[in-house]
Amino acid sequence: MSQIWVPLHDIPAEGREFSFSDPDLWAEPWHEFGLSYEMIEPLSASFFVLPQKEGFLIAGRMAGTVAVPCDRCAEPAQVVIDSEFQEFESTSGTLDDETEDQAEDEKSDLLRETGQGWELDAAGLLWEQFQLAVPVKPLCRTDCKGLCPVCGVNMNTAACECEREEGDPRLAALRGLKISSS
Ligand SMILES: [Zn+2]
Ligand SMILES: [Zn+2]
Repeated sequence: MSQIWVPLHDIPAEGREFSFSDPDLWAEPWHEFGLSYEMIEPLSASFFVLPQKEGFLIAGRMAGTVAVPCDRCAEPAQVVIDSEFQEFESTSGTLDDETEDQAEDEKSDLLRETGQGWELDAAGLLWEQFQLAVPVKPLCRTDCKGLCPVCGVNMNTAACECEREEGDPRLAALRGLKISSS
């Protein structure tokens, strides 16, 4: 994944805003990780970096609309991304590669120190935040019927003759019943 290192050493004490409007920041890792995601309304993001004694406070927002595969039928599901984030990237402590946890006292893996001073991997930060903003189980519609587990047909658009329900035949009479979920 490509990295975009933004220098933090010349940020004034009152902080600085960074803006990102290149959708490839997100589209590139989708391609790299083989994700069939699509940009519907191009993503953009901005964040504000406030230098702290032992790190940087970062507060930002990301917005756009993407299409991701539906968790049930794999057809595109539109997801509106409009998320705010705030985090602290620490310049001290230890970098723990074993766990993904970024405890407050762990050194950020999005920061690196050069001869000039600290730099932040903006692409890495925005990719992390995008992953957090996408629902774990996106749906093309709330009542998506999914794929038939037997023949794989998309049950939203087609019907099949497969036996799906097993179990007590005495309950068969109930299967035609419509249960309202509202
Ligand atoms: Zn679906
Ligand atoms: Zn079927």
